[in-house]
Amino acid sequence: VKTFLKNCKIVNHDKTENGNILIEDGIIKEISDKEYEADTVIDCSGKMVVPGLIDIHVHLRDPGLEYKEDIISGSEVAVAGGITACCCMANTTPVNDNRFITEQMIGKAKAKGLIDLFPVGAVTKKLAGEELTEMGDMLEAGAVAFSDDGVPLMNSEVMRRAVEYATMFGACVMSHCEDKKLSAGGVINEGDVSTITGLTGYPKEAEEVMISRDILISKLTGGRIHLQHVTTKDGIEMIRRAKADGINVTCEVTPHHFSLTDKATLDYDPNYKMNPPLREDEDIQAIKEAFKDGTIDCIATDHAPHHYDDKFQEFDLTPFGILGMQTMLPLSLNLLREGVLSENKFVEMTSYNPAKIINKDDRGEIAVGKIGDITVIDVDKEYVFDDKLNKSKSFNTPFLNQTLKGAASYTIKEGKVVYEWA
Ligand SMILES: [Zn+2]
Repeated sequence: VKTFLKNCKIVNHDKTENGNILIEDGIIKEISDKEYEADTVIDCSGKMVVPGLIDIHVHLRDPGLEYKEDIISGSEVAVAGGITACCCMANTTPVNDNRFITEQMIGKAKAKGLIDLFPVGAVTKKLAGEELTEMGDMLEAGAVAFSDDGVPLMNSEVMRRAVEYATMFGACVMSHCEDKKLSAGGVINEGDVSTITGLTGYPKEAEEVMISRDILISKLTGGRIHLQHVTTKDGIEMIRRAKADGINVTCEVTPHHFSLTDKATLDYDPNYKMNPPLREDEDIQAIKEAFKDGTIDCIATDHAPHHYDDKFQEFDLTPFGILGMQTMLPLSLNLLREGVLSENKFVEMTSYNPAKIINKDDRGEIAVGKIGDITVIDVDKEYVFDDKLNKSKSFNTPFLNQTLKGAASYTIKEGKVVYEWA
């Protein structure tokens, strides 16, 4: 089967070129100015053609909480957002702490055939923070990394052993950095806004204490730790220094944390409650600086669907989290428009580096021999992100009914068009 993309502005992490792309049997076969006969031909004039986006932090609620989202609806959300591969966290019911759950997840995604699902296995059994999972077994079944995201791993000794064990297999541990004792009861950032609203604050230090612990554990073990959804100015400074010292850490930032501040919570809208919470202007500024100097490795969404009945309660009671996969592209393109990211850097943050973090060297680039996962982006497309466009089973996002700019015109998975803007 052949797919031919012509008149492409091909943007990779390291270069931009004009050309035509031939994908044959799922693999990029040729990039040139030649014309080819193909089963599918797409004219990409005026569009930006990038490697398929890879989101290394999502919650698909499957198995167990399929009324919020499942692997089928999650796949549809992903491709509508230009995402061709994503990593689902292990805090499902039951927990993904063994190879059977991992295999089930992958099998369900494969049967739908829209995306590659790369599960992140639990670090500890039942996310209980005590006994390590069979990491080698889970990797063999298709898991790509390990995380207890959802339940912060507080025991530093267990964290040390987990990193040592994962390192034996070349995998990283992804860490949700939160000192549960220090953040206890907190629902938004601790600061002026928590004082004004009377909502319980969650200090930045609760995140930073654990960022610093994980940096030290990475130093101690030489193992690789990926710091999830980093939000604070001082936390970023710690990561910058750690990297300068040659410590093996990487980190991600979510679109909501570089787009919104805690001021959004002034009217108690539960759509703005997430963990870690929205921070302040100085933190967003620090994130933008960190994009420029390479301190941040990638953008990941922490896509966290919740049903209306769960999410639309009073602020203290509502669960943490918002949808993310369908708004990642337009929000990240805002950084391009602001001059924070170049087009190449945008690709590095959304595809090239995420692929490296999960050890998938066969993607993240548009190059001969790589997998034919490609997103064709209409950078200037303006639209209202409404109920009809939202593919999720849930609709807990503050961006619903907002005007967004930039969208996937085509999402191509192994040469097959899996999404097309209608
Ligand atoms: Zn988390």
